[in-house]
Amino acid sequence: MNLGNCPKCGRLYALNFQEMCSDCLKNIEAEYQECAQFLRETKGATIHEVAEATGVSIRQITKFIREGRISIANAPNLSYPCEVCGTLIRESNMCESCRTRLTKELRSVASDGQSGNDAFNKKEDYTYKAVDKLRKY
Ligand SMILES: [Zn+2]
Ligand SMILES: [Zn+2]
Repeated sequence: MNLGNCPKCGRLYALNFQEMCSDCLKNIEAEYQECAQFLRETKGATIHEVAEATGVSIRQITKFIREGRISIANAPNLSYPCEVCGTLIRESNMCESCRTRLTKELRSVASDGQSGNDAFNKKEDYTYKAVDKLRKY
């Protein structure tokens, strides 16, 4: 049996298919039940209202939403923070502007890599010619 430290409470537990110890899983399950219950009663709740009413962290609620355990389809005001800037969103992991910025950044990194490669190739070409010259003499 493999033992590991629970990432949530730090206690030793038997590693299994779960990402944390059974106590923490139970806690999270209870948190989920509370959120689900609250949302059943308050369909128009925002994530802040859910967090306030249940005492569950926004981070954890976001996780429930991402895992698909809490559906935002039936909760018109429920959104979760963008991974990067915290703007409330209702789809994907990032808001529109962060996604645009990331795409741009990735593109510029890619083109930087390109020119870096070109420079490298030229240098190699130059080295080759230099060696070639040396051979002639
Ligand atoms: Zn634990
Ligand atoms: Zn963002």
